[in-house]
Amino acid sequence: MLSLIVFDPNYFLFVGPFMLLALWAQWRVKGTFARYAEMPLRQRLSGAEVAQLILRGAGIHDVSIEAVPGMLSDHYDPQAKSVRLSADVLQARTVAAAAVAAHECGHAIQHAQGYAPMAWRAGLVPVVNLMSSAALPMFLAGIFLGWTGFAWFAVALFGVTTLFHLVTLPVEFDASARAIRIVEASGLAVGDELVGVRKVLYAAGFTYLAATLVSAAELVYWLLRSGLLGGSSDD
Ligand SMILES: [Zn+2]
Repeated sequence: MLSLIVFDPNYFLFVGPFMLLALWAQWRVKGTFARYAEMPLRQRLSGAEVAQLILRGAGIHDVSIEAVPGMLSDHYDPQAKSVRLSADVLQARTVAAAAVAAHECGHAIQHAQGYAPMAWRAGLVPVVNLMSSAALPMFLAGIFLGWTGFAWFAVALFGVTTLFHLVTLPVEFDASARAIRIVEASGLAVGDELVGVRKVLYAAGFTYLAATLVSAAELVYWLLRSGLLGGSSDD
């Protein structure tokens, strides 16, 4: 039975194409970022300076800007009220750096304005973490107790995970939309720079869409597998 689930060709048939899509999206965002990391920003502002200008312009004075290790590890931490920027963004005076800095400030503005999907997303984080940490023990228990129980657990896990990804989409797309509006209105990026900002943020947005599709495909697979969708289980 173990071989049935571990080497189930249907799994790769269902989930495989979306995993390839997600890998392609990751590869593309790195490529697009690298391309516009070569394009200097005419205003000669670093990512940190772009972030400072945007936050101040939005009337936000209690959000710090900090360095974070890694590549494309940039994020906004709502608990610490901190925009965390990687070295390629913090100090770089490029179109790619401005795009990412503006996007993270978009999250800070969402937070300041009480943007609801951001709170929904934060509420789902502990649930997803708890269920993910239960996945391995459940998998091992499945070997001894039968696959049906594990399949149901997998349905619940991927149901919650898919919901998390779905709620993440408006948060990410809205942060990018805010970023593009602000850099355009403020003249931080103009002409080909603005095109670059859009391309970097669209490529980043697509990785979230691809991750959602992977999760939804996993959910559909386990729904079929558990017999909850489309007929009986094969256990
Ligand atoms: Zn984001």
